Amino acid sequence: MNARTVLRAISVETTLEAEDAVAEMLGRLLGCPASAFFDVEARISRVCVYQTGPVVPGLRAKVKEGLDRIRDCGLDISPARISIAGVRKEDWAESWKRHFKPIEIGTELLVKPGWSKRKPRKDQVVVILDPGLSFGTGQHPTTAYCLKEIARYSGARSAGTPPPGLPKNGHSLLDLGTGSGILAISAAKLGYTPVRALDFDAEAVRAAKANARGNGVKIRIVRGDATRLPARPGRRFNFICANLISGLLVSERKRIRAQMERGGILVVAGILKQEFSEVSRAYQNLGLKLVRTKSEREWKSGTFCSQ
Ligand code: SAH
Repeated sequence: MNARTVLRAISVETTLEAEDAVAEMLGRLLGCPASAFFDVEARISRVCVYQTGPVVPGLRAKVKEGLDRIRDCGLDISPARISIAGVRKEDWAESWKRHFKPIEIGTELLVKPGWSKRKPRKDQVVVILDPGLSFGTGQHPTTAYCLKEIARYSGARSAGTPPPGLPKNGHSLLDLGTGSGILAISAAKLGYTPVRALDFDAEAVRAAKANARGNGVKIRIVRGDATRLPARPGRRFNFICANLISGLLVSERKRIRAQMERGGILVVAGILKQEFSEVSRAYQNLGLKLVRTKSEREWKSGTFCSQ
């Protein structure tokens, strides 16, 4: 392990019978709770603790001592294989690259990583993205739904008719929880203006700003918390996307709603299928009308308009 290691996984392979005792021992020794995973086919339980900071001196010997004590109590702990492995920061930051394939949203938008040679179709807007450690490459169904809706309502390019209440060109857009900036940047490229984005994670704000620069779009990206949006905002938006989690969408419904311009659109995502009805009810109770939903895998996303 080298100095760039930020996370260490300490795990023990054992029996289902000894799993609880091993988890308790590892948890006490390392000062953080252990998780356990039972592989039904191999009939082996893997008990694991993730740890940051300096290595505990003699860690392996201490784990072994703990295992010996459990064995002495009469539990079968075999195979009792100990593994200590570093998870390097580079691995996290680079691993997304394997999964990031270009994604097309209709004929309007192509989002791709910098190294992709994929050529856009005629009139297709291209967004080049490096999400780093932040969420959002377009592969996730919730992101893809938001992108589709942004493309659908982009007055300038949309093949469909712009919905009533939205200006024909250049709607303003607010992206709550921007991550890599994928939605805000795509929106700016599709003609939305002005575009604002917010994330409470400093790393996301950094990545989103770098991506905005890389794509040559001017959008305002700030570090901020969606639970602290102003109840009486200075500016309201024609289009809001909130790819957050359902708990937050429900608890912050009034604040989120307050950012909407009359006749505006709100896209909510990040919602598990079974939680959608609660989110939907929360916004309908605030006078919004549900105009579209889409389910994909375990997710369900929706689009509302204000009347
Ligand atoms: N908009 C991107 C990323 C969605 S992931 C996409 O659609 O792909 C959700 C993002 O919301 C994460 O980047 C997370 O840091 C951010 N987030 C979660 N809770 C937040 C809060 N309370 N305030 C601001 N940002 C938040």
